[in-house]
Amino acid sequence: MPGTSIHELAIKEIERLSRKEFQRLALPEPLESGFEQSTFVQRSERLWIEGLIAIGFFNIYVLADHFIRGGVSWLPLQVRLCIVTPIALLVNVSMRWSPNKIYRETSIALVSCLIGITHLYLESNTNATSSAYAQVGLIVTVIFVNVVMRLQFMYALSASIVLLASDLVFLHQDHFLNAPEKLLGITLAVCAISMTVIANYSVGREERLGYLMRLRSEIQTKELSFLNVELQKISYIDNLTGLANRHSYELQFAKLWREAVDAGSCLSAIVIDIDHFKITNDTRGHLYGDRVLVRVASLLLQSLRCKDDFAARFGGEEFVVLLPGATQQGAMIVAERIRKLVEVAGSPALPEPGSHPRLSTVSCGVATCWPCDSNCQEDLLESADKALYLAKSDGRNQVRCGELTSTARKRPSGERRVLRGLARGDSGTWAKVD
Ligand code: GH3
Ligand code: MG
Ligand code: MG
Repeated sequence: MPGTSIHELAIKEIERLSRKEFQRLALPEPLESGFEQSTFVQRSERLWIEGLIAIGFFNIYVLADHFIRGGVSWLPLQVRLCIVTPIALLVNVSMRWSPNKIYRETSIALVSCLIGITHLYLESNTNATSSAYAQVGLIVTVIFVNVVMRLQFMYALSASIVLLASDLVFLHQDHFLNAPEKLLGITLAVCAISMTVIANYSVGREERLGYLMRLRSEIQTKELSFLNVELQKISYIDNLTGLANRHSYELQFAKLWREAVDAGSCLSAIVIDIDHFKITNDTRGHLYGDRVLVRVASLLLQSLRCKDDFAARFGGEEFVVLLPGATQQGAMIVAERIRKLVEVAGSPALPEPGSHPRLSTVSCGVATCWPCDSNCQEDLLESADKALYLAKSDGRNQVRCGELTSTARKRPSGERRVLRGLARGDSGTWAKVD
């Protein structure tokens, strides 16, 4: 069945990721690649848009910060506008080309760290208010990285650790904050980082679970349609010979009958039975018997020349052939061809060298009728069966044709029927019938 191993892997991963305790988010290959493949375009698109918005806000803040503070120092403005903004813009623009995962996540993490550390560098150790701003800016950066941009968990965690470490360094060097204020600042930063990392982990888990669920349902749908096709095959085709089975025969017979009624044409049936098949089975074994059945089925198909002709295994060692539009003479010719072909080629070779297989032959009963709404459909097969019985009692390896009862025997009269004075003969050709 297609996709079974991936399916099992996906189910296992759904179970694993659904457990309450902390779970590794990375999926085993090939699921991780599949996840990346199915999300990378959308993700790059989102990062590009969110990046633009973030850079916009960042520059508004930069300008506001400079002018509200009275433009005392140009350094922060220059660093932010001439270094940080162009780098951030470059990285952001590269998202338009849907880069690979390592570049995408690493570059965003690095730019976020650059923004955070620059902010700490510019704001710390200037005065007490600025040092407090430095803490707020760091928290905003962390929220942005972990919750808005939603960097993949390991990248988000790494960026958060770098930012926290930088915060510790700058707080340590700050001369304007006293120890309790520094402790408060670092506590706030740790809280913000912990909460946003947890949120980032939950979102990452949900995204992967969503992907796995979609994958599971896609595979299940594929498997279901595969099984449906298999089921259909089983219900219409004989497993051993590959011919249509009895169920198929009944459907096809009803269809051909209806078409013959509508077209005012004739319909012929040949019932074929392998002679002394029980003896073949008893002397050569059932497996050899099966090979004979397969061979006869194949010869039956080879004997049919018209695309609408239909052959089915009726049951056991009996077959039935339907010939729409074939006259009795035409059907007799087809039956004789089947008989002859089986006589010549119906006995598969035996595995033991030099041993001669039992000669397989068939007897055939032929019947023809002109279907109309008033006659009985079963009569056709009954008549062919009677003819088969005659062939058997006349010594087997014979073809006999049956007498049709009631109206089925007569060719209906009327204008439409007269126009159809030509009926199909053998080999798909058309012959005049009386
Ligand atoms: P007859 O010439 O009168 O038709 O004699 P027969 O032996 O062919 O007919 P009979 O009805 O006595 O036996 C039919 C045999 O077909 C019996 C059964 O074991 C065998 N048979 C039916 N289906 C299968 C099958 O799928 N595989 C094999 N190997 N044998 C089968
Ligand atoms: Mg039989
Ligand atoms: Mg038989």
